[in-house]
Amino acid sequence: MSTSRITGFYKLDVQERLSVVKKLTHLDEVSIDSISKTGALSVDQVDKMVENAIGIMEVPLGIATNFLINGKDYLIPMATEEPSVIAAASNAAKIAREKGGFSASTTEPIMIGQIQMMCETPEEAKSAILGAKEEILALANEQNPVLVKFGGGAKDIEVRIIETPAGKMVVTHLMVDCRDAMGANAVNTMCEVVAPLIEKLTTGKVYLRIISNLAVKRLARAKATFSKEALGGEDAVDSVIIAQRFAEADAYRAATHNKGIMNGTSAVALATGNDTRAIEAGAHAYASFSGRYRPLTTYEKNKDGDLVGAIELPIAVGTVGGATKVHPTAIANMKILGVKTASELAQIMASVGLAQNLAALKALSTEGIQRGHMSLHARNIAVVAGATGDLVEEVVRIMTEEGKIRVERAKEILKGLSKKGQK
Ligand code: NAD
Repeated sequence: MSTSRITGFYKLDVQERLSVVKKLTHLDEVSIDSISKTGALSVDQVDKMVENAIGIMEVPLGIATNFLINGKDYLIPMATEEPSVIAAASNAAKIAREKGGFSASTTEPIMIGQIQMMCETPEEAKSAILGAKEEILALANEQNPVLVKFGGGAKDIEVRIIETPAGKMVVTHLMVDCRDAMGANAVNTMCEVVAPLIEKLTTGKVYLRIISNLAVKRLARAKATFSKEALGGEDAVDSVIIAQRFAEADAYRAATHNKGIMNGTSAVALATGNDTRAIEAGAHAYASFSGRYRPLTTYEKNKDGDLVGAIELPIAVGTVGGATKVHPTAIANMKILGVKTASELAQIMASVGLAQNLAALKALSTEGIQRGHMSLHARNIAVVAGATGDLVEEVVRIMTEEGKIRVERAKEILKGLSKKGQK
């Protein structure tokens, strides 16, 4: 793609925006239909995806612009019901691109599968399991020749003995390189197959066999410099750092700080058919991995007085598997992104998380988020009150001017406007 910097994208109507995306990403007609038409995901498909299906619930889809990540431009599809999120991410990405955009990286895509065992002689069991490492890995890898063919598969094991009120537990961790898959099904299958061998090697009884969402070996990192001029001066940089210190010192604030990050990261996960709950669970567990719940970002001032932001979090996403290749809109969104690997997708999601957080901190530490948020919220209120067409903007304008953004007021305004219209 030539550039993701599209001036005035937000001023276009939905059709015009879609045309711009189509032109820039050479999106095919099937993908365009999957994005713009209702019914792209059929009830028949849904009936195969979940149990007791009764229908389809739609979520708004937007495009975040301005993202430059590792020197490559991306238009980023975000699925979210929350106003302001996509605008805020695009805004922060615009500031970041002035100084070269985001530099992002990932570790290898290693997920951990856990096999829980209760045993009278935990230390002996641990030695026996570690001694049979090669046999365990070979058995696990027999289950997934496709993953192995792509360079992935079970690579290592570790054994932990943990104290619990129910007694000592021997927990075997199976480290599986999941390549371009999120990996839960792959890892769970391996854990289940390996469990009887672990019982055979020891005197224990296996209980749970399941992936861990605390994906500490599958981390994504992103970093960007935000110029002090674009942020609004030296005071604005200092204010963001003070907001960061607040989150570092206080879990109440850190939870909301990290929620803001996930506004971005989860919206990309949802748009690409990935498991948002897995990513959320991993992010929040990682935030408390040190023993104290902490922000997933860091901010410092560089020698020029600009703000340098960084983020690190586990991101277990796939470009294959799960719903990624089932949901037609997710498939189309992957084409817009143009990503080749799950690692590249994770790098984008980390960058969006950082952008989202910077935008929130910038707004919070200056004018507050309510002004921007409420004008968008006002649109929802106007629609709830029954406004349609041009009346939506008119109701929003009056409510915003009055500073009263409430459904009852919107209804009154609407009544007044329609009376005027009848005269
Ligand atoms: P999957 O089993 O549908 O597909 C992954 C498989 O695709 C791999 O095992 C491999 O055989 C194949 N494959 C083809 N090309 C590949 C490539 N380039 N790289 C890697 N693998 C390739 O999906 P999955 O990723 O194993 O599981 C994801 C699903 O599991 C999600 O829908 C998730 O919601 C669900 N899930 C999650 C949890 C959890 O997070 N705790 C638990 C259970 C299930």
